[in-house]
Amino acid sequence: MSDKENKLDLWVTETHQDIVSLGFKVEDTLFSGASPYQQVDVVKTAGHGAMLLNDGIVMVSERDEFVYHEMIAHVPLFTHPNPKRVLIIGGGDGGTAREVLRHETVERAVMVEIDEMVVNACKKHIPSISHALEDPRLKLIVDDGVKYVDRCQETFDAVLIDSTDPIGPAQPLFDKTFYENVSRLLGEKGIMISQSESPFYDRQIQESMFSNQRPFFEKIHMYTFSTLTYPGGLWSFGFASRGLCPIKDFDPQRASASGIAMQYYNPEIHRAAFALPAFVSRGLSGLIDPVPL
Ligand code: SAM
Repeated sequence: MSDKENKLDLWVTETHQDIVSLGFKVEDTLFSGASPYQQVDVVKTAGHGAMLLNDGIVMVSERDEFVYHEMIAHVPLFTHPNPKRVLIIGGGDGGTAREVLRHETVERAVMVEIDEMVVNACKKHIPSISHALEDPRLKLIVDDGVKYVDRCQETFDAVLIDSTDPIGPAQPLFDKTFYENVSRLLGEKGIMISQSESPFYDRQIQESMFSNQRPFFEKIHMYTFSTLTYPGGLWSFGFASRGLCPIKDFDPQRASASGIAMQYYNPEIHRAAFALPAFVSRGLSGLIDPVPL
């Protein structure tokens, strides 16, 4: 038998809500471990590069991670006029920190990830995403983001919630108390971005998270991006602010002149991402605010 015939046909399959599955062909397991919080796996896939899975749910793949990470970071950081201090909750793979630290204005970034195993596995096996975790402007804290924001006395220009789905330790990251604490940490022009799940599959989660945010923010919007690795192919972030508008206060000149080489984000995508499909804006009407496109 040739080597090719000998090779096992291995796939990782993520099942969402027990109704849909998404599979990726795997060539090798790079890391596998059980932390106090979750099962952590890094695999080498046949077509999507290295991939991190927490509890069997795809977190990032090298092939399309730039979309998620550019969109979580650059939309708020090119809306805020002068972002200097950024707090990241979760984000243990380091991709969000990498994009935040590409902004010259950012003097200090704090990242609070609950699971050291995720950080160490990504540092060792996915350096293309995790390399910024070594940047001296980044303070990495291994702690529960919920407890951290409750105690924290610092002020931030942007808080980016790069969390898993609302299960296990990530569940309280979608609660009222957490959002209240985040709003307390934001300066006058502060912006909070939150991972807000699938517009197709997760309407109930979105309704709950946006109504939990409403008492603490003047403006609440949602924007979308495409993804290869999350079910449904269309995903979203919530944009909540003390008053800044992601369209009126966005400075396309600053984005174009930044010199940051992007693979997905550009000024046109920034604006267009806030144009929501009719079923989404209708479904979330009253929970999110319209944007002046
Ligand atoms: N882009 C990803 C997605 O949407 O699937 C999220 C990536 S990042 C790896 C998510 C991280 O949030 C995980 O590593 C998880 O350990 C972390 N996390 C979950 N709950 C947390 C909490 N309460 N405090 C801090 N980090 C938390």
